[in-house]
Amino acid sequence: MPPETFDRSLWHATGGSRVATPPLDEAIATDVAVVGGGILGVSTALHLAEAGTSVVLVEAREIGWGASGRNGGLVVPHYARLGPADARAALGEDRGDRLSALLGGGAELVFDLVRRHRIACDPVQAGWLCPAHAPSRRAGLEGRLRQWQALGRDGLDLLDAAATEAMTGMPGYHGALLDRSGGHLNPLAYVRGLARAAMAAGARIVQDTPVTGLRRDGDRWHLDTEGGGRISAGRVLLATNAGRGTPAPGIAAGVVPLHVYQSATAPLPPEMRGRALPGGQSLSDTRADLFSLRPAAGGRLVTGGMASLQLGALERIQHRMAQRIGRFVPGLVVGGFEHQWHGVASVTPDLLPRFWRVGPGALAVTACNGRGIALNTALGPVLAQHLSGAIDEVALPVPVTDPQPLRYPRLSAAAPGAMLLFAGLHDRLAR
Ligand SMILES: Cc1cc2nc3c(=O)[nH]c(=O)nc-3n(C[C@H](O)[C@H](O)[C@H](O)COP(=O)(O)OP(=O)(O)OC[C@H]3O[C@@H](n4cnc5c(N)ncnc54)[C@H](O)[C@@H]3O)c2cc1C
Repeated sequence: MPPETFDRSLWHATGGSRVATPPLDEAIATDVAVVGGGILGVSTALHLAEAGTSVVLVEAREIGWGASGRNGGLVVPHYARLGPADARAALGEDRGDRLSALLGGGAELVFDLVRRHRIACDPVQAGWLCPAHAPSRRAGLEGRLRQWQALGRDGLDLLDAAATEAMTGMPGYHGALLDRSGGHLNPLAYVRGLARAAMAAGARIVQDTPVTGLRRDGDRWHLDTEGGGRISAGRVLLATNAGRGTPAPGIAAGVVPLHVYQSATAPLPPEMRGRALPGGQSLSDTRADLFSLRPAAGGRLVTGGMASLQLGALERIQHRMAQRIGRFVPGLVVGGFEHQWHGVASVTPDLLPRFWRVGPGALAVTACNGRGIALNTALGPVLAQHLSGAIDEVALPVPVTDPQPLRYPRLSAAAPGAMLLFAGLHDRLAR
């Protein structure tokens, strides 16, 4: 595992202060307990509290400590590598379309919440671009565009190569999907702002308190915590992103942990600013060797990628990322990077979310797949409705199933690194 980097990110340096919360050292009762203070847990707690349901959210470390406070901050209302037709094929027409509708509206919801709760998180809704690195990928994007348009979405366009170069500053792409509702923000400041809004609406938030046990007694759930505090709840949401500390069996074994690295430049000199992404969009392209780029406050750029070997990757990746940006954006010299950090994204085999049944009235949800800002925010209101009893399981956009551990978890954990060794070749050979 790479070293712990939560407090080394640009988001930590520029995202304001930690959310202040009182400790839990007593036994308390609530309607709903949410375990995990990332975007999914916090959005659900906010919408529960706004609807008048009593909710306690318990976070092992601090709000945003997981993937939510370390990601690239690209607000992307699209599946990773899939389109609405894939969601239909996997979930059925009705459910698939409901999930796609939630995801498709996810960026609007994110920026609405930012405005409504006046969250200072450097939001920029200038659009998200997915450039095609090969003609076949452009055809794939065209297919996805049609699928989204068939669901009634507007604000999407397919750009030709010249327009893509003008918008990205990068020659060589074969066109791009542009989604005008997307953009970028400081994700740690965003999730902290959502948590403050949840508290203002009446949610109780507890930090530095790992939940160590979950058991059912009569018609209530009982949560034990490391600090000795106890919570009794009618319903429970495990919003732990299927992390290893999830207090229910089989959940962590259902996902592949994907190591993702982020690097932020120092503020670029004035003559270098605007060479990449002059219009302020965020970008993730179609390469298998993941490449994302976005502007950030102060004239910086933030870029993301993966490493095949995790040992020493944090030091190595800096060089690779600088080389890659220099190659993609002619004339842009970023010099060194000011911030380097790492996070773990939970990935499901079909890249779709999972709602796992933990017991009566208790669910574990993961909807990460490297694209969780829009979708996890949008799942919050729906999960809140379900947990408050307003809608039943059938109305959820993802079927509730028993936990399904991966068949070969160790092999699966090693797979992304091994696949990355071939990703460059795969990308070069793509027609
Ligand atoms: C490096 C990286 C870059 C990414 N880039 C993007 C991007 O640009 N755009 C995008 O949309 N998505 C991106 N993603 C994905 C996105 O960050 C995730 O989908 C999203 O943050 C997941 O939110 P979550 O609330 O489900 O989980 P998390 O944010 O991981 O939150 C889970 C929380 O549960 C807590 N927890 C775990 N066990 C316990 C326990 N026993 N008791 C109490 N608390 C517990 C953890 O401490 C953690 O804070 C990226 C992910 C990574 C790792």
